Amino acid sequence: MDNVFSEIKSSLPMPEVARFYGLEMNRAGMACCPFHDDKTPSPKVYDDHFYCFGCGATGDQTGFVAKLFGLRQIDAARKISEDFGLRLFDRKYAAPIKIATDPKFEMQNWLSEARHIVNDYLATLYKWHRDHAPKNPSEPLHPLFVESLQKMDYIEYLQDILTRGSEEDKRDLYENNIADIEKIRKRLDSLTEQQVTLRRAI
Ligand SMILES: [Zn+2]
Repeated sequence: MDNVFSEIKSSLPMPEVARFYGLEMNRAGMACCPFHDDKTPSPKVYDDHFYCFGCGATGDQTGFVAKLFGLRQIDAARKISEDFGLRLFDRKYAAPIKIATDPKFEMQNWLSEARHIVNDYLATLYKWHRDHAPKNPSEPLHPLFVESLQKMDYIEYLQDILTRGSEEDKRDLYENNIADIEKIRKRLDSLTEQQVTLRRAI
């Protein structure tokens, strides 16, 4: 087996891979970023890689798929090989599946978004935990510190599933925890609004 990564690189142009997994590019090769909350197209899809001018996400064909589906590089290569019927790993031929019309695609989209939301919130909780920790035992606990205490374990658990969970765990999350992720998104939105109001006030 030749290097599967270079094999993928040379046999599939980046735009084809991006399009296959649901990225809608305009004529300039720009698309809305699946890796951050993107309102206007920020990533540019080049012939052999992509780069997001919004969040800095970058990668080649395999890197893109690894990020999108939360896979290790080698598993992403395996997925590409199967989805495009490249037969890089064995002689089994898997016909390309139309992911865009597959309910699985919706789940993967949701998972990738959920991963963003959970990562953002967890980073915020860590920051609050650091910045608002009481300096001595008699100091009353800051509400943001309390929130960090209450939520951190659960959010870490969600992050663990979203980044390292099995396909089954992820499906389970998708089927049962949409409301939870929505709540976190609203919480993050409320924080952004507060910041905007604060900035306006200054
Ligand atoms: Zn981005």
